[in-house]
Amino acid sequence: MSEAKKMSLTMKVLLGMALGIVVGLIINLTGLNENSFVSTYIIGTFHVIGKMFVNALKMLVVPLVFFSLICGVCGIGDIRMLGRVGGKAFVLYLMTTAIAIATAIGIAVTFGIGKGMNLETKSEFAGKESPPLSQVLIDIIPKNPIQSMANGDMLPIIFFAILAGVSVLMLGKKAKGVIAGAEMANEIMMKMVTIVMSVAPVAVFCLIAKAIATLGLGLLASLAGYVGVLVGSLLFHLFVTLMIVLMIFSRLSPAMFLKKIRNAQVFAFSTASSNATIPVTMRTVTERFGVNNSVASFTVPFGATINMDGTAIMQGVATVFIANVYGVELGITGYLTVILMSVLASIGTAGVPGVGLIMLSMVFTQVGLPVEGIGLVLGVDRLMDMIRTAVNVSGDAVVSTVVAKSEGALDVDIYRDPDAGMLDEDDVDLDKAMGVE
Ligand code: ASP
Repeated sequence: MSEAKKMSLTMKVLLGMALGIVVGLIINLTGLNENSFVSTYIIGTFHVIGKMFVNALKMLVVPLVFFSLICGVCGIGDIRMLGRVGGKAFVLYLMTTAIAIATAIGIAVTFGIGKGMNLETKSEFAGKESPPLSQVLIDIIPKNPIQSMANGDMLPIIFFAILAGVSVLMLGKKAKGVIAGAEMANEIMMKMVTIVMSVAPVAVFCLIAKAIATLGLGLLASLAGYVGVLVGSLLFHLFVTLMIVLMIFSRLSPAMFLKKIRNAQVFAFSTASSNATIPVTMRTVTERFGVNNSVASFTVPFGATINMDGTAIMQGVATVFIANVYGVELGITGYLTVILMSVLASIGTAGVPGVGLIMLSMVFTQVGLPVEGIGLVLGVDRLMDMIRTAVNVSGDAVVSTVVAKSEGALDVDIYRDPDAGMLDEDDVDLDKAMGVE
């Protein structure tokens, strides 16, 4: 496969994203989105193709997590490593989330966003509850694993798969067939990921064109202070904080990380869901970064559920913004409560679109801010969700890489090879697979 051809799929996805932004903007700025033909047939087509793609990704999540975790546990060799991987990932996930929100609050307070703003403060946002921590703990153990799988509840699926993997391991020789079967199933799932990813350029175009055509970017201007500080804090976290964490704990090159993570970021950006991006994140960290499946099979789905740096940043910035708009003085205790609540809320909520707002209403209730204030940032939230999800997924990948490196479960040669694991057209060449010339 030639170099130019190898490059093409990643480039095509980025191109799809850029074209999506341009086409979406054209439709929105010319007011064509109001035209019933355009909205029904053109935006409608974008919607259908985009949703089909997101469904295809979601379709892969549960079986992929299940089989790769069984393989991961069985391939781990030393079962104590499992506890260490879990402990390290948990601490790093919570730590990065706490740093993310603390920095975001610091930046937002420095800029004093929302101060003296005369916004219409009545809005129709009704808060929803995030589950309390006690319930999150109880729900880790599935009453019915099939039901958890059907609902896509990540923590109970992880629990069940680990227990199944440990049992297979304990059965030893007798369960050899199961291990081989799970390995095969895992490979099949990874192949399916490759196939779904190969249609991404078109799908990403549709998802983004639809989002921008319907939402427009005009709203961003009306909330320029909030949006500017939020996007700035997200970029700071991605390019500074996470890269420092990567360097300190793994001594690996941030430039290589940022280059290789792009694909997963684009998927996260266009789907606004860390959960739906799990297959792509998993493929990226194992095949592009060289993280062993025994670590990635656990850290990636775990991270998609409990690690939400970008979401925490949004909560920090939104809290400062709305407190200032309403003239509420939160003080240091208030902000510490916000940090604690956001970190706790991120544990129990899944990485799906818009969940950040639910977490935010829980935080607001806790610090006594009016929940309906969230309505002020509602209009721009979908676009912000896309950006913060890309940051969430990057955080999952950083922690997976760091934990793998510390456990000797990272192939540094793969990490350093810029072309390793690059999706190439041979991977989805049906003729070649069937031996047709
Ligand atoms: N959409 C985000 C995610 O899936 C969560 C959120 O911020 O709403 O990671």
